[in-house]
Amino acid sequence: MLCRISEIYVCHLGEGTAAGEPATLVRLAGCNLHCAYCDTRFACDGEGEEYTPEEVVGECTKARLHNLLLTGGEPLLQAAACRAIAEQAMASGLRVLVETNGTVSVESVAGLAELVVDVKAPGAGVAFPFLEDNLKWLQPGDQLKFVLTSRQDYEWACAFVASHSLPIASSNILFSPATGEISPQALSVWMLADRLPYRFHLQLHKAVWGDRRGV
Ligand code: SF4
Repeated sequence: MLCRISEIYVCHLGEGTAAGEPATLVRLAGCNLHCAYCDTRFACDGEGEEYTPEEVVGECTKARLHNLLLTGGEPLLQAAACRAIAEQAMASGLRVLVETNGTVSVESVAGLAELVVDVKAPGAGVAFPFLEDNLKWLQPGDQLKFVLTSRQDYEWACAFVASHSLPIASSNILFSPATGEISPQALSVWMLADRLPYRFHLQLHKAVWGDRRGV
């Protein structure tokens, strides 16, 4: 089995409840979306090289970090490879997290890896809606992340959470401002005014590195 990988590097995780922890990041090539605020177009365009899952896990083992993040692009477009990488990495003692855009089934890695699932708000301008079937695969430690571009997105996200019975803790529901679209201060004020129990979340890697690639 071969998978297409855009890049592998070590970093401090930029998103999710594990933000700030060191990890090996494996960016799989290809995406089914074209979000207005995407900062990894090179990966979406398929830029990368072919690896076997064994080669990916070998690179991650050499990196000597406990966390392995599978991201993209959209990693679950290569679902069988993601599962194979996750199984082999976990057998080697690594912790595996998967970031996905929420429009592709998470079934292949649910209950195996830790999931960080995006729910794209209208401001992302994407062609495919959130795959609601994914909610049934969520485990208590998984996360749902909303990247918000406006007050309208914020209200949409609040309504989404209120209208679904989610099997995860409130602190694993992440509201994040899209960089350059709404200010972090504005989102913080809205969430506090509404007494939301969800997690206010910033993209840590952007604060440190801006749009620099591969860090
Ligand atoms: S889902 Fe992620 S990788 Fe794909 S276009 Fe949107 S932001 Fe970019």
